[in-house]
Amino acid sequence: MREVVVVGAGPAGLRAAENACQAGAFVTLVDSSDELGGQFWRHLPAARAAADEHRLHHEWSVFQRLRASLDAHPHCRILTSADVWAIEPDVTAGAGLAVQVIAGAADDSGRLRLTLLPDALVLATGAHDRVLPFPGWDLPGVFSAGAAQALAKGERVAVGSRVLVAGAGPFLLPVAASLTQVGATVVGVHEAARPKQLARGWLQKSWQMVGFTGKLLELAEYAAGHVRHRIPYRTGSAVIAAHGTDAVEAVTVARLDEGWRPIAGTARRIAVDAVCIGHGFTPRLELPIAAGCAIGEDRYVTVDALQRTNVAEVYAAGEITGIGGMPLSAAEGAVAGLAAAGVTPPKALLAQRDRQRHFASRLAAAHAIRPGWRAWLTEDTLVCRCEEVTYSALHAPAAGRSRGLRSRKLTTRAGLGICQGRMCGRTVEDLLGEDQPLLGAMTTDRRPIAIPIKLGDLAAESTTDTAALEGTT
Ligand SMILES: Cc1cc2nc3c(=O)[nH]c(=O)nc-3n(C[C@H](O)[C@H](O)[C@H](O)COP(=O)(O)OP(=O)(O)OC[C@H]3O[C@@H](n4cnc5c(N)ncnc54)[C@H](O)[C@@H]3O)c2cc1C
Repeated sequence: MREVVVVGAGPAGLRAAENACQAGAFVTLVDSSDELGGQFWRHLPAARAAADEHRLHHEWSVFQRLRASLDAHPHCRILTSADVWAIEPDVTAGAGLAVQVIAGAADDSGRLRLTLLPDALVLATGAHDRVLPFPGWDLPGVFSAGAAQALAKGERVAVGSRVLVAGAGPFLLPVAASLTQVGATVVGVHEAARPKQLARGWLQKSWQMVGFTGKLLELAEYAAGHVRHRIPYRTGSAVIAAHGTDAVEAVTVARLDEGWRPIAGTARRIAVDAVCIGHGFTPRLELPIAAGCAIGEDRYVTVDALQRTNVAEVYAAGEITGIGGMPLSAAEGAVAGLAAAGVTPPKALLAQRDRQRHFASRLAAAHAIRPGWRAWLTEDTLVCRCEEVTYSALHAPAAGRSRGLRSRKLTTRAGLGICQGRMCGRTVEDLLGEDQPLLGAMTTDRRPIAIPIKLGDLAAESTTDTAALEGTT
């Protein structure tokens, strides 16, 4: 029987696993989290299950069905609390890839080290949210929108009682909705794109919109929630500074021009005790890069119509191939799962996936980051919070300096801290390459060890004996 390993149990990975099982493969589904569902269906753990979980999720019944079908499938092995920390060539066979897994609760000692040697690998590791820096963004009380959403959905915790949500993209809307559902007052949602940018992105080829009526209904629901909770929605507006002594006490918002430069004379201060910021998403590329997958100019994994990467028997699905929301991730996962199991996906499924891609291209056009945001930085704004590297340090005279990203990172230390550039990497690249384009193909996404692991666990012997997996889920 063909063995398929799926990394990531969000919408893409779940549908990949389901389809590969149904096509006759033996599937091992691996996810770092304690629960299945990924970001979209992040929920309370089984031990603290809520009867009204569906209130915080769209398509919750779809998730329940997927989870039940995988749990019951005799050829599906589910590994939660299991990190894939590296992907390497399989030196024992001389071909194929070895998937290095460490299983067991993240802070336990004696986690189990496993090496999986699949016939086919589906990567569905999703994305991180992206946050553009601004003065004061290192104050306690400033959260990424994704973190606020994860706390609301996964713990029922509101990050503050008077919260402002800002950035770019439709993701700001579910974040505001979740915050109100866990008891916060949302004082406003500030979208950086101006109406013209939004209209040009969303209204292009309007006939294609029939392909994603589900998303439009979701949008209508959020709009109704805004009206019910009296949440102002401002376009062409951004948080350009946060203020406070020990924690955030207020933010300055300003109107932006078409290029996202703050317009003089429009700044105003709003009192808050938390602010949630998200400027779209950036794909989690560590594992695709380790597997040797080609990454496109757009910074997503390059795939063909069957979700195949350039590496034999390695498939990619979901937000690592482009940001387009849950339905696109799920459809790509279904295609990848069938193809990885050696079955040709039906034309209707391919067409469904392609329709969802129209949504992704609108999203990108309507909410793309514009360069004027640099105008709200001050010389001492921290860009890399872990290593406390300021904007001015990144702009020290470039004469005589290497133009390679690695050496520039080493000399400024930007992106070398504990988050390894997950939070600031794209911004650091943009700013370091601003005066002179960077040379070479290196990106801040290249992290040979994808997940931090303890030295003791690294030194422990790895097993390929799948019986050792029993009891780890
Ligand atoms: C923090 C956050 C919150 C979001 N919340 C929403 C929301 O509420 N509503 C909405 O419409 N969209 C939300 N999104 C966007 C959302 O991610 C997508 O619409 C959709 O979930 C993408 O599905 P996916 O399967 O591609 O990835 P994900 O759902 O992100 O799933 C990827 C999975 O891969 C796992 N993984 C990653 N790396 C490894 C590794 N090395 N080893 C093992 N497992 C790994 C992760 O734990 C995760 O479960 C959110 C995004 C983020 C980043």
